[in-house]
Amino acid sequence: IPVDPFDLVIFGGTGDLARRKILPGLYRRFVAGQMPADSRIIGAARGELDDAGFQKMVAEAIAEFVPAERQDKAAIKAFLERVGYVSIDAKGTGGWDALKSRMRENVVRAFYFSVAPALFGDLAERLHAHGIADAWSRIVVEKPFGRDLASAKALNAVLAEHFDEHQIYRIDHYLGKETVQNLMAVRFANILFEPLWKAEYIDHVQITVAETVGVEGRGAYYDKSGAMRDMVQNHLMQLLCLIAMEPPYHFDPDAVRDEKLKVIRALDPVKPEDIVRGQYLPGGGQGGYVEHSEDPASRTESYIALKCHISNWRWKNTPFYLRTGKRLRARASEIAITFKEPPHSIFDDAQGWRENVLVIRLQPNEGMNLMMMIKEPGPGGMRLMQVPLDMSFADALGAEAEDIPDAYERLIMDVIRGNQTLFMRGDEVEAAWAWADPIIAGWEARGDRPQGYDPGSSGPEDALMLMHRDGRRWREIK
Ligand code: NAD
Repeated sequence: IPVDPFDLVIFGGTGDLARRKILPGLYRRFVAGQMPADSRIIGAARGELDDAGFQKMVAEAIAEFVPAERQDKAAIKAFLERVGYVSIDAKGTGGWDALKSRMRENVVRAFYFSVAPALFGDLAERLHAHGIADAWSRIVVEKPFGRDLASAKALNAVLAEHFDEHQIYRIDHYLGKETVQNLMAVRFANILFEPLWKAEYIDHVQITVAETVGVEGRGAYYDKSGAMRDMVQNHLMQLLCLIAMEPPYHFDPDAVRDEKLKVIRALDPVKPEDIVRGQYLPGGGQGGYVEHSEDPASRTESYIALKCHISNWRWKNTPFYLRTGKRLRARASEIAITFKEPPHSIFDDAQGWRENVLVIRLQPNEGMNLMMMIKEPGPGGMRLMQVPLDMSFADALGAEAEDIPDAYERLIMDVIRGNQTLFMRGDEVEAAWAWADPIIAGWEARGDRPQGYDPGSSGPEDALMLMHRDGRRWREIK
């Protein structure tokens, strides 16, 4: 379904994110017929380029980041005709009138702030001062949204000076992933799961986001961030909310976000013994974390595992174990919901018995898996075995799976449609920082050092213990 015609200005249009995700994504939506022909994309950045120069850069980005079979000469040419460029300095005065003259009346105006957050205030102020943004305009802001509660509040305040909350789209690209949205469909469009979706039947939940890459050239940035700020406060927290929230009364942006906010507010402080931080060591012919950092004594964590509790009726005594890290064994993101034992076993030989687990795979190979018990086939008596009820999106949807838009594409189209459901509201972000800040302050005050772990492993030893001591195990990262 095509969206309304739009003018999309990408501040930072020549940057890495624009080249890798935003521009190739827009091209794909154009090819899919979702971007109306009379829409315009305007790159705005510091570099001295003209329209032709930027179009060349966009063409190169498409060549590099769109799969070859999706590249079509005629389509690329038609797409580029809709692309222009204005040289602008967010902190300066030049370029704003030129940008204004490019903007058309009666189309949706969206401004993507794909620049450092320190520039958000300057952009918001100048868009307003030059009469470029109006009450119907939208702005899209990228992560990181602050590095603690105070800075997130300051960012919210600076944006709120010029834009209403309903105009602000804070991107968390995890929310744009097909399976993540499917989580809501599975929970709220099936009667099967919801009656069991509580502490009475769920033993625990595991959320894993494992990466194989290290910090490489991003050491200086990452040193000020670490896994807690870079991944947990935003992405893993959003996943936790979607699993734990109460059913919203309607699939409506504020109804959904109200329920997510309640979950974050119900999170208990995390005890120091329920936190394991790690830092990858040298190995596999590559340097360790500190070799990429500017500080050879850096205590920044490239891995974190946490046990969290949500203090409400539904989740009393059901722990949520979160872990994320770099340079791990495999690139894998999944949510696993482990159910409890049946109250009484009627089978003498319960040896083969294992828990039911609902696994939602976010990457790779998006899909769902429900681990079930069945009778082991054959004449050997009533023995049990576990088998997966497996649903891979690629298999279930066949060729259609190829057309599933990637997270950025979907989210940008949602901005044009004016649908904020999959974007974080200001109060949600602040609540997540209010939860994360004391955890970080705690380890800083204690002077905790992260535990070293080998690249290609599944993280530090202590993280295994975090679950072992509760009589549980992490799922294998594979
Ligand atoms: P980048 O350094 O590659 O690009 C920055 C862009 O901003 C360039 O186009 C540059 O010309 C422009 N710019 C810098 N100063 C400017 C100024 N004063 N006025 C106007 N334009 C200016 O950065 P990036 O990696 O593309 O990241 C952009 C934003 O997106 C950052 O906030 C980053 O945290 C966020 N982000 C990036 C990624 C990623 O994968 N690259 C992922 C998530 C979030």
